[in-house]
Amino acid sequence: MTIEQIVLRELGMRLKAPFETSFGVTQDRRILLVEAVVDGMSGWGEVTTVESPSYNSETTETAWHIISDFIAPRLVGRDLKGASEVAPLLAAIRGHQMAKAGVENALWDAEAQIKGLPLGKLLGGTLNEIVCGVSLGIRENPQALVRKVEEELRSGYQRIKLKIKPGKDLDFVAVVRKEFPHIRLSVDANSAYSLKDAEHLKKLDDFDLLMIEQPLQWDDIHSHAKLQARLNTAICLDECIHNATHALTAIELGACRIINIKLGRVGGHSSARQVHDACYAHSLPVWCGGMLESGVGRAHNIPVSTSPGLGYSVKRDLVDRISVRTRNWKADMVTRA
Ligand code: MG
Repeated sequence: MTIEQIVLRELGMRLKAPFETSFGVTQDRRILLVEAVVDGMSGWGEVTTVESPSYNSETTETAWHIISDFIAPRLVGRDLKGASEVAPLLAAIRGHQMAKAGVENALWDAEAQIKGLPLGKLLGGTLNEIVCGVSLGIRENPQALVRKVEEELRSGYQRIKLKIKPGKDLDFVAVVRKEFPHIRLSVDANSAYSLKDAEHLKKLDDFDLLMIEQPLQWDDIHSHAKLQARLNTAICLDECIHNATHALTAIELGACRIINIKLGRVGGHSSARQVHDACYAHSLPVWCGGMLESGVGRAHNIPVSTSPGLGYSVKRDLVDRISVRTRNWKADMVTRA
């Protein structure tokens, strides 16, 4: 397959409602979409960065720079056997997993279309149905959160995840659990706590949670191992895991009992599959979480969620309005040293 062209577009999207996590409130999104034209076929991917370096070190602007100046010039004009050859070609670019994933995933989409296969099948997926959950932002009070949970359960979501932060945690979870004693309930702290908060976090054991996601620092697997030893509830690692080596480190240290595979954070479908396989080999459950993506990013989460080690995915319908900027590379516009 010959990569004829890569087009990068930035969309401005306003969410229907503000989304609050422990690192701030988001309403206006800057989304980067990648179109890869391969053998006359367009494949699509999304760069799942947020606007500030708060979730990881990437931003919309760093991804635009890295794709423009390093990734697209390396790939346009190449003749590849398949999208699985992309990650080794980008290995010399350190980090920037979300920028790489946006491009690699567009090429996976193109390959699936060229081969006439659903992307899930091309990636080795085996599940025909996936269960969807929803992640709920921090609310002003527990009653408002209960009303939102009620609404999402009515919409059919089978798993509810609550964002928490210090001061908006135990009381909120207690009220939701009391109101809905039998739902599959999780919390996500996005690194808002430290190991000094272990006794406080242990109180979450009372609420029969499926998992406590990423309570401690985004790059600290070691402290999560110490915390997991003190909690009955499973810790799920999100921000800490960028590749299969991180997953194996976390498993061997006992730092978590679940891993959230996010396509952008791990660098695309090839790396996501390696993280999945590492966890599957150790019988560690995984699931595929979303960022605040557009439908293009969401569409890529579905094939990941058909992998044998997954039982559920996250999906949301949040977009209100859209605007655009574009950059375009063609094979004849690229100079290679
Ligand atoms: Mg998370």
